[in-house]
Amino acid sequence: MADLADDPRRGEALAKDLHEVAGQLGIGGLVRSGSEWVGPCPECGGRDRFSLNTRKGVFQCRRCGNAGDVIALVMWLQRVAFPQALTWLCGPSQDLSPEERRARAAKTAQHARDRERAEAQYRARAIADARAIWKQGLPPEDTPVRDYLTRRGIARDLYPRLPVALRFHPDLPFMVQDARGHHREIHRGPAMLAAVQGPDGRFCAVHRTWIDLAQPKGKAVIADPLTGEVQPSKKVLGSKKGGAIRLFPGGGPVMVMGEGIETTLSACVAGAVPGASYWAGVDLGNMSGQRQLGKGLRFAGIPDLDDATAFLPPPWVERLIYVQDGDSDPKDTRAKLLAGLRRAMALRPGLKAQLVHAGAGVDLNDVLLRGAPVEGAEE
Ligand SMILES: [Zn+2]
Repeated sequence: MADLADDPRRGEALAKDLHEVAGQLGIGGLVRSGSEWVGPCPECGGRDRFSLNTRKGVFQCRRCGNAGDVIALVMWLQRVAFPQALTWLCGPSQDLSPEERRARAAKTAQHARDRERAEAQYRARAIADARAIWKQGLPPEDTPVRDYLTRRGIARDLYPRLPVALRFHPDLPFMVQDARGHHREIHRGPAMLAAVQGPDGRFCAVHRTWIDLAQPKGKAVIADPLTGEVQPSKKVLGSKKGGAIRLFPGGGPVMVMGEGIETTLSACVAGAVPGASYWAGVDLGNMSGQRQLGKGLRFAGIPDLDDATAFLPPPWVERLIYVQDGDSDPKDTRAKLLAGLRRAMALRPGLKAQLVHAGAGVDLNDVLLRGAPVEGAEE
């Protein structure tokens, strides 16, 4: 029996479009987010715990831990072994002539190039759409953006000048996308826009927070009228990977980064680290990057250093402080932030890193709202 790893169908299978295969396997409800598709897990459900990364050709469920490439996906959902999964994907094994084998390899390589080109086009279009929204933005001072930030504990006297990275949009539509890619407007209203800048400083995405000052936290509560599902009041459009929202330039060698704008600005007005720059990391995945997620590693916080798209501090940063929001899953969040800090230390020799959090179950911003002191935990 031939070595299975040498089966020419393996390369062919791995070159297949993961999202297409997921569709053939009956996985539904996935929504595109950059080079990922996100939705409920076919095994354990949920809303957004399952993701496909079509660029890398891998899938992952944060909850049940099922993960792997397209062959592993078929093995998992069809409950078959490796050879049967190859047959499911590529048809029965055949004795191919060298020419046929070469032709298949060429086709496989062509598929990979086509997919890369399609990804690049998708990204370019998303950045152009993001820039169009950003250009509609107005200066944020004396608008609901200022009122929203005040509501979140960032008082005007502590933060008298809003950064150029923030703008106000008076009437921004909130669109949802169904699994077939169709867009639908489910809300429209005032929003805070934030520019996400890539490592080279260029605009790469727009972060949007829909505002409703009638709500206790000032964020709009947006329910999809068709499904009744409440949507997150924040969204990012563009290519956020490796980027950051540059809220406050410090001039010194220290950078403080929280996931959200509010947490980061709260740390800024708390003034705990004089001279520091304050940048928001946009989302945890960007701050963390890919992690090594084998058995027993879920909370280990070990970075996968092959991920070249995660956030890295600029070379002038000598000390990087991540601020942990207390309101998310604490163990998981901590593991992700540690992975990000360890990646930065591995790739920027000499960098000092630190994780600070406001305490179990509390958001740093909540702490400031109540006026309690911030407990910084050095690690
Ligand atoms: Zn699952």
